[in-house]
Amino acid sequence: MRLADRMSRLGTETAFDCLCRAKALECKMDVVHLEIGEPDFDTPKHIREAAKKAIDEGYTHYGPSAGLPELRAAVAKYAGALRGVHINPDQVVITPGGKPVMAFAIMALVEEDDEVIYPNPGFPIYESLIGYMGGTPVPIRLHEEHDFRLDAEELATKVNPRTKLIVINSPQNPTGGVLTREDLRLIADTALKHNVWILADEIYAEILYEGRFESISQFPEIHERLIILDGFSKTFAMTGWRVGYGIMPVQMAEKLARIQTNMNSCTSTFSQRACIEALTGPRTEIDQMLGEFKKRRDFIVKGLSEIPGFRCKLPQGAFYAFPNVEGTGIDCEVLARRILDEKGVACLAGTCFGKYGDGFLRFSYANSVENIAKALPRIRELVEKK
Ligand code: PLP
Repeated sequence: MRLADRMSRLGTETAFDCLCRAKALECKMDVVHLEIGEPDFDTPKHIREAAKKAIDEGYTHYGPSAGLPELRAAVAKYAGALRGVHINPDQVVITPGGKPVMAFAIMALVEEDDEVIYPNPGFPIYESLIGYMGGTPVPIRLHEEHDFRLDAEELATKVNPRTKLIVINSPQNPTGGVLTREDLRLIADTALKHNVWILADEIYAEILYEGRFESISQFPEIHERLIILDGFSKTFAMTGWRVGYGIMPVQMAEKLARIQTNMNSCTSTFSQRACIEALTGPRTEIDQMLGEFKKRRDFIVKGLSEIPGFRCKLPQGAFYAFPNVEGTGIDCEVLARRILDEKGVACLAGTCFGKYGDGFLRFSYANSVENIAKALPRIRELVEKK
């Protein structure tokens, strides 16, 4: 096969590979899935009903590339209220999931040899896409002792005239770290000073356990260079519906919509109609789900911390626990593999999230307390046996 060179720079999201291996093992043993980052709850009924109604009403055709005007308006209102800022519907582009916002933003901004700073450990698709589009990925390490918050002073040392974009993610995957208002202010100052764009991945904005959500969009000076990524997958348990959105300056929204015309034409129209219901309908099931995540977080962090050689920070948001496992004396990739093969618990090595994830494991607690309770003693047995 003669493929384009860029294919050698395309990475992946190992969670999907691990899911396949774990599924294959299910014919031999009981497997607890703590690898994949998706809510185990069903999409709330009123949202499913809205999709069925939309199909019956004929929302089965192409729609505008930037998204249905009524959903763009609903997103502007909802996302603006969440962040305490005014958002114009023209600034919103609806995409098939949040991931395309990442890809499109990098496509629109990054040229050969431009540098892009991104958090590491972090969502693996940032590094993959930056390299694939010809940019140079510049990792910034998230330190456990700094609660996995990006260190703004360290960030300032990484920025140079070739830096085009800084990616931030809060609440963060895989660490559960959350940036403070002060962190965000310093990041915004750095971006402004050096004329750099920011891609703020806020997909976990509402999966936050303490305090209120702080968005970098609170600093109006940065609006001209800010792309916010958010979506429906996590908050509304809608991973399979594939609807996300970007919020950005109007001129940039026009560019992203044009990329969308080229790549996907538009986002599924009946899914978009259901998303209006998600934003405007009752919140009971969502609030219950968030309450359940908090219980699970406390349960898994306590359990993991009791395993010899593990220490685990309390995640402030998202639904991942990221324990340091260096104390076990077992390499994290070997440990993740053995926990799955020998004990039927699927989790990910920290290195799936970049080189600075070495020495850690990621457990998604988007699974029931009963299943987490089944997994914990199995992991302990393996570590104690070595
Ligand atoms: N950003 C982060 C940090 C994520 O963890 C994910 C999904 O796991 C996404 C973006 C993309 O989500 P989706 O494309 O399902 O909206």
